[in-house]
Amino acid sequence: MTQQLTDKIALVTGAGQGIGRGIALCLAREGAHVAVNDLAQNDHAAAVVDEIRALGRQALVVSADVSQRAEVEAMVETVSAHFGRLDIAVANAGMSVRQPVIEAEWDGVLRTLEVTQFGVYHTCQFAARQMLKQPAPAVGARGKIVIIGSVHEEQPVPESAAYNMAKAAVNHLGRTLAGELAAEHINVNVINPGWINTPGERKYFTEEQLEIAGRNVPWGRIGTPEDIGQVAAFLASDAADYITGASLRVDGGYMLGLRLR
Ligand code: NAD
Repeated sequence: MTQQLTDKIALVTGAGQGIGRGIALCLAREGAHVAVNDLAQNDHAAAVVDEIRALGRQALVVSADVSQRAEVEAMVETVSAHFGRLDIAVANAGMSVRQPVIEAEWDGVLRTLEVTQFGVYHTCQFAARQMLKQPAPAVGARGKIVIIGSVHEEQPVPESAAYNMAKAAVNHLGRTLAGELAAEHINVNVINPGWINTPGERKYFTEEQLEIAGRNVPWGRIGTPEDIGQVAAFLASDAADYITGASLRVDGGYMLGLRLR
């Protein structure tokens, strides 16, 4: 695709690194100006803003913890005031405290749900409210919302019950909201990534382990943030106006089963 998002205004949560960064850069390459959200303590967001500006687009750091409703509301207001509107919202921020259910400490379960499930809800809700305030175009969509789920919405990875629950929930949130907003021409879709090489995954695996494990994915390699970013850019484009309420796996065939060698 080339320049399908010229001068669109996008907000991407958790965009200081990993998949969120990949999405922010792909949207910018397609012509969008991007508000880059991350936690205030994650200073990578400023570097992503520099990368976007180097592409000739406008960019802004908007620090907020997506689990905090008031912070998300203020963030959407800041972005809309700065750029004049909001066309694209990508609810990407997520995390997982991994523990078996039997041993899980409630704080970790709650934090995982607050960020990975409720943070997506807050982001979608306040973004949609803003989009509804904006005049509808004569043709085409009024706004685009993309939720980053996971293949673990249907495949339960062990020791991650709260994460699996959150990912199942955000897929259903996406479908519900899509139904509510279809007549308003706001598209809501979910991307369910497979195994993607990000700093988050490198907390658990070395680069070498990821590379070796990636060979067992049917496509023959682990995914990249750009693999997800390109699909997010497509879903945010006019070409995807008639897609809403979809849950799209982007996983190199991961869910088809690991390749036997
Ligand atoms: P990552 O840990 O590399 O990056 C996540 C970013 O989100 C970080 O910059 C972090 O600071 C930020 N973040 C965390 N909590 C936040 C909060 N409360 N408010 C704002 N920002 C916050 O993770 P990633 O691998 O890039 O994952 C991004 C999204 O993709 C997550 O929703 C994750 O569940 C999903 N996902 C990842 C994979 C994978 O294999 N990496 C697969 C499927 C889905």
